[in-house]
Amino acid sequence: MLVLDGLCAGYHGLQILHELDLRVDAGEIVALVGGNGAGKTTTLRAISGVVKPSAGAITFRGQRADGVRTAELVRRGLVQVPEERALFGPLTVDENLRMGAWTQKGDTVASTLSEVFDLFPILAERRRQAAETLSGGQQQMLAIGRALMARPALLMLDEPSTGLSPKLTWAVLDAVKTIRDRGVAVLLVEQNAAQALRLADRAYVLESGSCVLSGPGPELAEDDRVRAAYLGL
Ligand code: ATP
Repeated sequence: MLVLDGLCAGYHGLQILHELDLRVDAGEIVALVGGNGAGKTTTLRAISGVVKPSAGAITFRGQRADGVRTAELVRRGLVQVPEERALFGPLTVDENLRMGAWTQKGDTVASTLSEVFDLFPILAERRRQAAETLSGGQQQMLAIGRALMARPALLMLDEPSTGLSPKLTWAVLDAVKTIRDRGVAVLLVEQNAAQALRLADRAYVLESGSCVLSGPGPELAEDDRVRAAYLGL
């Protein structure tokens, strides 16, 4: 589905990612964990075309994706939910969701909308409410729902649990599992390494823009180096 091969990227001539290799297969949740400033967000931004790679290649569904504009990547099925959510505050839940469907034809919008409401029933209840009046957890659900409206093949989530209570974090991560089970691959960046690793089919640990460890999520959660560095154990 997605392959990064020797990816290098950074800002204003400062290199942040160093020859990063990473893969997401169909049907997988892949987690990207690591400390502050390890380059997780930069990796997502490079994949979604916001940051231009300086070297290496990105392939998505068999086609080169580096140097491709973000809007075109969305049309190809690669959609990112940014950490800051970027909702349209004064617009209603319903309007925000429909904005996410700009790549879709009219007849698929209604069925996708009901899939999103099925995943997050609270959004159906609040559909006429302005996005800015939702709680933090509901806003995160709306941001994910809006991304799903584009019918992605691969959904990239940047720290979806930011600012959420442990209970809501579980609710959101549980929805991520359902999304995977419905056939959407997920690349998940999480500060909360313990929960991300338990959820992920596979995971990569980033340090200073390089991958230092990778493997099945639950296996990494048991790894002594990971436990010491990221799980505080
Ligand atoms: P966090 O969990 O703190 O968000 P991260 O692993 O997502 O960390 P990145 O946000 O990718 O890390 O940041 C990696 C490095 O790139 C950091 O040193 C950061 O200061 C730098 N950086 C991020 N965004 C920019 C920017 N727009 N301009 C310059 N440097 C940046």
